[in-house]
Amino acid sequence: MTRDFTLDAYARLLRAAQDAGYRLVSFAHYVREAHREDRVLVLRHDVDRRPGRSLAKARLEADLGAEATYFFRIVPESYDEAIMRAIADLGHEIGYHYEDLTLARGDMEQAANLFAEHLARFRTVYPVETICMHGSPLSRWDNRSLFQEVDYHKHDILAEPYFDLNFDRIFYLTDTGRRWDGASVGVRDKVASKFEHSFHTTAEIVAALEQGTMPDHVMINTHPERWLDHLGAWTGDLVVQQAKNVVKWGLVRLGHGRTAAPTAGVGA
Ligand SMILES: [Zn+2]
Repeated sequence: MTRDFTLDAYARLLRAAQDAGYRLVSFAHYVREAHREDRVLVLRHDVDRRPGRSLAKARLEADLGAEATYFFRIVPESYDEAIMRAIADLGHEIGYHYEDLTLARGDMEQAANLFAEHLARFRTVYPVETICMHGSPLSRWDNRSLFQEVDYHKHDILAEPYFDLNFDRIFYLTDTGRRWDGASVGVRDKVASKFEHSFHTTAEIVAALEQGTMPDHVMINTHPERWLDHLGAWTGDLVVQQAKNVVKWGLVRLGHGRTAAPTAGVGA
């Protein structure tokens, strides 16, 4: 078996996209202007933990002339100002991977205050203009619910992927469960879409790019802590991931899964 979800595999994916004429851009760049381009690949990374691994990925992208968005959480296992600055210095965007409703244990008012406070803290490091929910599958709260009460545009936020993208226009791929077709495993990180493309391995995505069968607009979401090159660490991580998948499957079957209802947004 060829090892997948390594930095080498990721580099092959990016090069195949560039060869096929895709522009590799951040989320903010896509929302502002790149959604008008013929072929665009939005690179989004959710830094759930182990931020050092995001820096390795950010360097690789910068070497290839690609631009990405790294969404950091406010919790200590993600939030690292030195790494955020280093990633920004490579030309990437930093966004806020919010989970304020979970942190406030469902208290909307407290969550709204925490959101403002945390955003202000991020902005001492980087002028954050995009946010994205942290969809912790084991939390009983959907962090997006906060924005039924709070208008993030009033906080000078340009966009939030789950609210502002039209997933019939931009094809969404995520590495949930260390595979590209694991949306049935992820409890919250899935979107309603008309696309019927399905990929399991990174090599299958590369092949589709080479054959010209990939949709023209694509957002790829990765969790950099899952992408390793060191065999020992990679294997250990995989075992943990498989154990988590078993737990998540249980939740989906019990009907706790929620699907984002994308609104008509960019590129609609
Ligand atoms: Zn997350």
